[in-house]
Amino acid sequence: MKEDQVVLEEPGFQDEEGFLFQDIDLLQKHGINVADIKKLKSVGICTIKGIQMTTRRALCNVKGLSEAKVDKIKEAANKLIEPGFLTAFEYSEKRKMVFHITTGSQEFDKLLGGGIESMAITEAFGEFRTGKTQLSHTLCVTAQLPGAGGYSGGKIIFIDTENTFRPDRLRDIADRFNVDHDAVLDNVLYARAYTSEHQMELLDYVAAKFHEEAGIFKLLIIDSIMALFRVDFSGRGELAERQQKLAQMLSRLQKISEEYNVAVFVTNQMTADPGATMTFQADPKKPIGGHILAHASTTRISLRKGRGELRIAKIYDSPEMPENEATFAITAGGIGDAKE
Ligand code: ATP
Ligand code: MG
Repeated sequence: MKEDQVVLEEPGFQDEEGFLFQDIDLLQKHGINVADIKKLKSVGICTIKGIQMTTRRALCNVKGLSEAKVDKIKEAANKLIEPGFLTAFEYSEKRKMVFHITTGSQEFDKLLGGGIESMAITEAFGEFRTGKTQLSHTLCVTAQLPGAGGYSGGKIIFIDTENTFRPDRLRDIADRFNVDHDAVLDNVLYARAYTSEHQMELLDYVAAKFHEEAGIFKLLIIDSIMALFRVDFSGRGELAERQQKLAQMLSRLQKISEEYNVAVFVTNQMTADPGATMTFQADPKKPIGGHILAHASTTRISLRKGRGELRIAKIYDSPEMPENEATFAITAGGIGDAKE
């Protein structure tokens, strides 16, 4: 038997929560050769769904894939996957796989309907020292712990764009939850991104990793999503290009979250709104990223400072939660409830 004709026994992958995806290697059965499958994997497309989620044009941009080949690949993928319609009942069954990761604060969780949700992008924005990075660190630990609704816990990928990730903080937070330091640190894969392009490239690796250890990874954190875009694109002249690149990244994140049933948590900064003085807005600051980010985030949380270690979270935009507020505290053990 030739190497490129490996017989596939596993039709797909099923994790303990019943999540299923079809491996891209299945294309071999429909006449696509291993070399071409490898090319797809090199750009982070590892599942049949991943092909469905990628436009023909984008596939043609993959090095070594001709238009004819792309057509063949699309055709083969369509044989393996339903065109996309589900009944609302089937969809609700699928939604049952959605899990929530606790923030460490019950009040905050309540605000979010249980915590940070999978198959979605959650964005937390606020001024400096409002707890965005502390929340990111806390989630690195809580995502590993079994939780409500049969959540089993899992691994995390952390993409750091501001060089503020601190393993020592994870140790402190691990102490609070009585879990072993080394085990906690072992379950967090960390990467520092240096440019917005690098940040995008890392997502190829993320997709590959989520695929390789399917069902094991539960959370992807990017702290912060916009910092490098702000540096790489300056001035009004480059705004359009920045927003286009940002849209591509967010679309990628959205797909990854659905494809592998993981939660995506991103932080964001704020900037003075030049139009605010004209409209007499009470809060003249707004999150950066414009409409592109506003529409891509499933749930947006605004954070602001309270007294001492207290912080206030507010639902800014959510498909199902009302615009409420919750007070939480930043403690040595990470995000927690405010003491009475
Ligand atoms: P930026 O926009 O600058 O990135 P941020 O929103 O990420 O800000 P964080 O770094 O999450 O802000 O929060 C900083 C706050 O966390 C500070 O007020 C600090 O007092 C608090 N903090 C940091 N470390 C600890 C700790 N070990 N114990 C208690 N509080 C801490
Ligand atoms: Mg920060």
